[in-house]
Amino acid sequence: MMSIAPERIAALLPQTQCQQCGYPGCAPYAQALSRGEAALNLCTPGGQTVINDLADLLQLPTMRPADPKRAKKNKSIAYIDETQCIGCTACIRACPVDAIFGATKQMHTVIASECTGCELCIAPCPVDCIYLQPVNDKWLPRSHNLTNKLQEDRFAAATQAQIRYKHHCERLERLLQQKNAHINPCNKKNDSKSISNSASAGHHQVVAAADLIAKAMQRAQTLQTHRKVPENQQNFQQQQIVKAQQHAAYRRAVRNLQSGNEDEKIAALKWLQEYKRQQ
Ligand code: SF4
Ligand code: SF4
Ligand code: SF4
Repeated sequence: MMSIAPERIAALLPQTQCQQCGYPGCAPYAQALSRGEAALNLCTPGGQTVINDLADLLQLPTMRPADPKRAKKNKSIAYIDETQCIGCTACIRACPVDAIFGATKQMHTVIASECTGCELCIAPCPVDCIYLQPVNDKWLPRSHNLTNKLQEDRFAAATQAQIRYKHHCERLERLLQQKNAHINPCNKKNDSKSISNSASAGHHQVVAAADLIAKAMQRAQTLQTHRKVPENQQNFQQQQIVKAQQHAAYRRAVRNLQSGNEDEKIAALKWLQEYKRQQ
């Protein structure tokens, strides 16, 4: 096999970062291919098209997709049943391209044009209110520059996903820095705003800022200790979550009974019979 730079291999991948190849993203899969350590038929969203292109580039015989059933499936985008969403933000944290919009304890919604259908938001949802809706698009996301020419759309979509993923990583990096600065205010010394022209003035500024923050944190902690969280409020929230989870289990059973595989149908039927008995 020819040794090819991982960047050239990654340029052929759909960039959804879905991890369905078994690697934690497109770049790690490209690196493994470049080292000759991975099979070239693992990228489910890429399907036969990407396998053929990889085979050409790496000068290897082409193969069938490792999971042909899944590779043949229509592309899908995520949809959130907003009436069931409890605003836990778990899906936002899971989405590698920041295609979910929402805030804590608020309903969440998917930005359909940016969703790559990677499915990473489905499992973390505690109330199972995220569904996949099949779409006719050949490549996702529905980036803004689509041309209706298959090859060009493929690369436009991959570029769009890659840009969103890059912004997502940068956002996480910024959040981490802010968190670190908050935990240890002295880290602010790296912040250009806190560096004064004179070293000694800068030192005093940083110490003063650290002192103020420590005092504010102490005040907040004291308030928190003396604040009475109404017990009934906590109980109510807990009941709402349990209720939402029960609704989710019911919807999942009905869905499996209608369109699951044989095992899922049998399990769903059992679950619904038990549910009916308890009601
Ligand atoms: S798009 Fe393909 S290469 Fe990228 S993470 Fe998903 S399966 Fe792996
Ligand atoms: S919203 Fe779309 S892109 Fe984001 S995690 Fe869910 S399926 Fe993936
Ligand atoms: S994970 Fe589910 S419940 Fe939580 S915010 Fe997302 S859609 Fe709503």
